[in-house]
Amino acid sequence: MKIYDFLIIGAGSAGCNMAYFLHKENKSVAIVDREGIAGGASGAAGAFLSPLPGKENPYNSLVNEALKYSLNFYQNLLPIAVDKKGVLRVANENFDKDKLSQNSMKCEHINSEELLNISKNFMDIEGYFYENAAVIEPIQICHELTKGCDFYNLDAAELYFENGIYTLEGIRAKNIILAQGVSSSLVKIPYMQISPIFGLRVDVKTTTKVPFNIHKSISISTNKHDGTLSIGATQERHDSSKMECLTTCDKCTFYVNNDEMKIETLLKQADALIKLEDLEVVKIYKGARATIKSYFPLVGKVVDYEQTLKKYSSIKNGTKIPSENLEYYPNLYVINALGSRGFVFGPYLAKILTQNIIHNEQIPKEISTQKLFYKMARKN
Ligand SMILES: Cc1cc2nc3c(=O)[nH]c(=O)nc-3n(C[C@H](O)[C@H](O)[C@H](O)COP(=O)(O)OP(=O)(O)OC[C@H]3O[C@@H](n4cnc5c(N)ncnc54)[C@H](O)[C@@H]3O)c2cc1C
Repeated sequence: MKIYDFLIIGAGSAGCNMAYFLHKENKSVAIVDREGIAGGASGAAGAFLSPLPGKENPYNSLVNEALKYSLNFYQNLLPIAVDKKGVLRVANENFDKDKLSQNSMKCEHINSEELLNISKNFMDIEGYFYENAAVIEPIQICHELTKGCDFYNLDAAELYFENGIYTLEGIRAKNIILAQGVSSSLVKIPYMQISPIFGLRVDVKTTTKVPFNIHKSISISTNKHDGTLSIGATQERHDSSKMECLTTCDKCTFYVNNDEMKIETLLKQADALIKLEDLEVVKIYKGARATIKSYFPLVGKVVDYEQTLKKYSSIKNGTKIPSENLEYYPNLYVINALGSRGFVFGPYLAKILTQNIIHNEQIPKEISTQKLFYKMARKN
């Protein structure tokens, strides 16, 4: 029976990008998902790829570095699924005019008169235009990424490990990649505390031509290849600690009976930016973004929290134990907490993790599993 080099749990942006990069390294790859390819948050994403303006800091540097890499990557992978027309950012409470203008990225201020010359449908707004931004087709992209890999539509319940081989529902593999988004992790990773941010986005038809993406608190895309444009997304946190987070948000009690209100809010916010004529909502998408408190994503080998603390209980008191001495689950890796930027981070992080697994290249500390492990071990 076939033994794959890698078995990936979760076919969202994280898992599909891992499948792509591992397959490119000539590894045999199987990928499983209970909802199909891009059936979780990834199928619901806008999916806008935009810079994060503001004075340089470790987080926006990571985002902007990832954006540069990933945008170029998608354009080479599947140009038909990428609309790169830039984004106009309009000041809001998080990003005032100072923050939008003072940053290392090239941008251009466009006043309301200039905007009206571009389209008479713009409202009385002004903003900063960033060239390096796009909207992509997330589902098409995820399918393209998994070409050459075997896909299994199943709900992974338990992993078995024996004689150096993992088995899941009869599928056998030497290595496991956990890319499960907001779902409960198949393996205990207590230092990865995922909290979901739920969201809704719509695709609409309109006779209005939108020249580029527009972002204030929500985003409106330019007209896409299929003639629709995306408006998204809402952001809601709710106490999901008492329930298993279902990746298919249609089944989530949180959404029952309040879609219409959320759509109305989105359309109202869009209307304050540009008048969309003959508007018709054609599709609604819902999903939950996986985030951790620091907002940094997480990649790397999975540290076995309990075994490591059993071996080195003094870590709790601050004793420094080098990361290579920690106890790890054998051949088991995680890529998660991509937050609201899963398609900006996806290719960039998958490349980093693949280089780490295959060529032993180091993972930047900020996004490493070890960083969160030490933080939690010392806190407790
Ligand atoms: C409304 C909305 C709008 C968004 N807009 C943008 C945007 O404009 N730009 C952007 O970059 N990002 C956006 N995001 C964020 C982006 O969608 C996420 O960051 C990204 O999809 C996360 O990818 P993932 O692979 O980690 O998770 P997911 O896409 O959720 O994938 C995880 C998968 O694992 C599967 N799974 C989990 N456990 C199991 C199991 N035990 N057995 C089988 N399968 C399992 C799930 O079914 C799921 O398909 C948006 C998100 C939402 C919800």
